[in-house]
Amino acid sequence: MAIKVLIVDDAAFMRMMIKDILSKNGYDVVGEAENGLKAVEKYQELKPDLTTMDITMPEMDGIAAVKEIKKMDAGAIIIMCSAMGQQAMVIEAIQSGARDFIVKPFQPDRVLEAVRKAVG
Ligand SMILES: [Mg+2]
Repeated sequence: MAIKVLIVDDAAFMRMMIKDILSKNGYDVVGEAENGLKAVEKYQELKPDLTTMDITMPEMDGIAAVKEIKKMDAGAIIIMCSAMGQQAMVIEAIQSGARDFIVKPFQPDRVLEAVRKAVG
C-alpha cells in the first residue's frame, strides 16, 4: 500500500510543489494543512505515515505542531521544511522528535531522499 503523507505549509504553492514531487513518485498525499493547529487536527484524523512540516506559519508554528503531534503519537515521522537561516529552529524541531529536514527551495531528489530515509 502507498505511504500516506500529510503536507503542512502556509504557502499553497509550497504544498503544491511537495505534493507534485511525492505523488509522481508513488506516495499518497492524503491531506494538507496551512498552519500548525490544522496540522494537529489533520494528523489525528488521517494518521499519515509521514508528515512534511513547514516551520514559519500563522496560528501555530511547525515546532509547536511537532511537539503536539509527538505527544499524541511518539512514533510520528515528521520531516521539517526549513528556509535558510532557520538552523536553530531546525535543531529544536529535531530535538522535539522531527526525523530530518529539507531546505527551501526544494530539490526533488533531496525531498525524495529524505522521505525514503524517513519511512524506510
Ligand atoms: Mg511558512
